[in-house]
Amino acid sequence: MLGCSGSVPGPGEPASGYLLEAEGFLLAVDFGNGVLASLQTVCDPFDLGALLISHLHPDHCVDLTALTVLRRYHPSPPFDVCARRLPVHAPRNAPQRFAAAYEATPVEDGRSVVLEVFDFHPIAEETVHIGPFEVTPALVAHPCEAYGFRIRHGGASLVYTGDTGPCDALEDLARDADVLLSEASWTDGPERPVGVHLSGTQAGDLARRAGARSLLLTHVPPWTDRNAVLAEARAEFPGPVEAVRRGARYSVDRGGFGVSGRPLTT
Ligand SMILES: [Zn+2]
Ligand SMILES: [Zn+2]
Repeated sequence: MLGCSGSVPGPGEPASGYLLEAEGFLLAVDFGNGVLASLQTVCDPFDLGALLISHLHPDHCVDLTALTVLRRYHPSPPFDVCARRLPVHAPRNAPQRFAAAYEATPVEDGRSVVLEVFDFHPIAEETVHIGPFEVTPALVAHPCEAYGFRIRHGGASLVYTGDTGPCDALEDLARDADVLLSEASWTDGPERPVGVHLSGTQAGDLARRAGARSLLLTHVPPWTDRNAVLAEARAEFPGPVEAVRRGARYSVDRGGFGVSGRPLTT
């Protein structure tokens, strides 16, 4: 867990960012405010194999600007970063979005340092292989193009909701997931806007109805009562539930999550 704060970074907690490791391959999922700082405590950022970005809100992607600087201007990179651009799987307007965020002046004819160091792959609703992972995206309910992901490896499945309100696609995506990593941005209430985020109650309800084996809650903003969200989810879902924090490590096993003490391979 590189960062688990929702919407903005919180005290000592970067915004959304998760690092998956299998067969020595490192896949970063989302890369929000502060995630690069967190990443450097667990691996060399040059060892990343790919990035997967759920949507283009800053709390899920803006540290790509910092990663651009690190890759392009590190005085002694371990390889030619322009010859080995980092694959970034993201919504289709990501190149323009990151060029605008990175460049201090408007970009002429699309040329940006961002494009020198990253190799963008637009996400579509079809299964792709990223390193050893099989990744199935699904469009979810959020005010912009936003995806949830089902990520499989070795017979186990992790489903990440990204940012979303309740929707049918999400329930299909989360069906029988071994680990459901769900956003839970607020406590439940009738005044909450539709199609934006999940409450703790809705995250727990999703896990139960989809038949998920275990539930990890994330994306709790600093202004939301984390324990209240956790209590809501536990009231809905009978399986194991935790609210995650930066630095926590889990294994994704058939039947649920385990707490992993296994070091990263780097
Ligand atoms: Zn968010
Ligand atoms: Zn969002």
